[in-house]
Amino acid sequence: MGAGVGVPGQGPGADAGSPAVVGAGVGGAAAAHFLRQRFGRGARLAVLERAAPGGRVATVRLEGAGYEAGGAVLHPLNLHMKRFVSDL
Ligand SMILES: Cc1cc2nc3c(=O)[nH]c(=O)nc-3n(C[C@H](O)[C@H](O)[C@H](O)COP(=O)(O)OP(=O)(O)OC[C@H]3O[C@@H](n4cnc5c(N)ncnc54)[C@H](O)[C@@H]3O)c2cc1C
Repeated sequence: MGAGVGVPGQGPGADAGSPAVVGAGVGGAAAAHFLRQRFGRGARLAVLERAAPGGRVATVRLEGAGYEAGGAVLHPLNLHMKRFVSDL
């Protein structure tokens, strides 16, 4: 896992404050998605990425064609990821 999340004030009815997610790979993107769900559109949420969104999930383009250069296959027993994809 290459991302981190700082969330001030957790728990029912908590103020979101200004949570920051470090890293926009799958982990960070998922964390940002669930933080947005939890605290709503009004919350300030920062996603900090030092390279490119996607992290180890990456598509490279060669001579006009796209190739997956990282994570591309979801194992059918990865229920967390299956649920996350169906939520999107
Ligand atoms: C070649 C390859 C093939 C793979 N195939 C599969 C597959 O088929 N199926 C599968 O399930 N998994 C596969 N994986 C594994 C999968 O890609 C990773 O487990 C997953 O993408 C990791 O996601 P992550 O968000 O935890 O980390 P990462 O994708 O590493 O994301 C972390 C992000 O945080 C950023 N970051 C780190 N530190 C900082 C910082 N200090 N400030 C700002 N940004 C920062 C990085 O730049 C990066 O974008 C594969 C991996 C590789 C390399």
